[in-house]
Amino acid sequence: MRSGHISISLRLTLWFGGIFLVGWGFFGASMWFNLKHTLTAERHVTLSRRLDRLETVIEKTRGEAPEDRLNDYRDFAHATGGGLMQIVREDGAHAVPVLSSAAAAFPWPSHPDSTREQFVHVRAADQPYWVLTRPSSLDGQPLVLMAAAPEAGNLLVLDHFWFGLLASAPVLLLVSSAGGYWLSRRALRPVDQITAAARSISIRNLSERLPVTRTADELERLTETCNAMLARLESAVNQIRRFTADASHELRSPLSFVRTVAEVSLRNPKIDDESREALEDIVAEAARATAMLEDMLALARADASQNEAALEPVALSAIVQEACDAARPLAKERELALSVALDDSGATRVLGDAPALRRLFSILLDNALKYTPTRGSIHVSLHASGNEAAVQVSDTGAGIAEADLPHIFDRFYRADPSRGQTEGCGLGLAIAQWIANLHRARIDVVSEPGKGSTFEVVFPIENKISFSVPV
Ligand code: ADP
Repeated sequence: MRSGHISISLRLTLWFGGIFLVGWGFFGASMWFNLKHTLTAERHVTLSRRLDRLETVIEKTRGEAPEDRLNDYRDFAHATGGGLMQIVREDGAHAVPVLSSAAAAFPWPSHPDSTREQFVHVRAADQPYWVLTRPSSLDGQPLVLMAAAPEAGNLLVLDHFWFGLLASAPVLLLVSSAGGYWLSRRALRPVDQITAAARSISIRNLSERLPVTRTADELERLTETCNAMLARLESAVNQIRRFTADASHELRSPLSFVRTVAEVSLRNPKIDDESREALEDIVAEAARATAMLEDMLALARADASQNEAALEPVALSAIVQEACDAARPLAKERELALSVALDDSGATRVLGDAPALRRLFSILLDNALKYTPTRGSIHVSLHASGNEAAVQVSDTGAGIAEADLPHIFDRFYRADPSRGQTEGCGLGLAIAQWIANLHRARIDVVSEPGKGSTFEVVFPIENKISFSVPV
């Protein structure tokens, strides 16, 4: 994941979380209003029943003496909790003396509607109350019956409900986000696998394919499309490789013909100095071009063989020694000191292809000879420890700039100072790298411009047995 970018899983999780919060908010608010409405309706029903019963009491006590009647009303008011009841005339004056002390202190609506029922909200001693007023009559006289009930209980229920909603939101948000993240990771896991597989495919292993997820969905179509694209790329690259191999092969004969003709012409004593110089240039350039073609052909064959070679146990020190012996005359010619230290007396054997290994060490030695100025020194060593054997070629030459180091194993790459100054075409290290890969060895390089370079090839050891080397 690049910085500043968030993964699809995380984005989906944030969406899940956001949608959940909005949904939960809507759900909570609608439930809260619903509950409030239900509780208010229930209060209305309670007060309505209370007034029904008050009407029944009024009806029942119709023939009684006023004092008995008042006592019955008060008993009834007391029995219905707090006695918040009132019986008034149309103008709001008391039709019956107050039924309780609580009713006396209560702020009843001063001009209740005598034509229809009313359900109103009032505040008493800073507490909210519901009041129901109902027109009625006694002995032909119009009356208004009133009953009140506190709303505090309702508000408490609503508060609890609200608190429950708020308290459960973070927990549910966490659970739903974690679940969403887990689900999206699970659904996108094949994408990670496809990415890892696609990353491991390069020009060297173009024949490999991405694993197809048999899920009959977008991912399956994506992998199949990528695989079809890889197949097209593979066939295009193979065509180019064949062309390179064929072209290198076809060019070998005319080049060697040119070289031979030039060499034969040089033997003629009658040619003038200018022609001789030109013919010598032709021979040198033809030799250079032949070497380059050989390298290109070697790499084209390497690409075609896909790192398949019959390897057999070989004594590493013998091969290193041979390569050093072959380089000695050139070292002498260039006044370079070549020292060799093989510390295993022939015991280290690796699974290898002897001619290829000889070529690998020759390339490293050739480079050391090419890029080390006169009177410099080159040191070759072999050191085995544990399951590995390391061959080092160090020189006190030009060194390689840090910016060039990652590219020197690329085909046709030559660091700036080499171009035009030293012979070569930038294929040597590419071949060396391929030979190392063939032997499951790795090549490392440490270099300091102006001081020198050390190339190290580390091989896995086949086995360590006594092995005599012809000296
Ligand atoms: P070539 O030597 O034909 O140019 P190589 O592939 O062998 O091609 O090397 C690639 C580049 O790496 C060279 O052009 C040179 O710049 C650099 N290089 C390789 N070996 C050495 C060395 N021993 N010292 C300094 N530079 C080196």
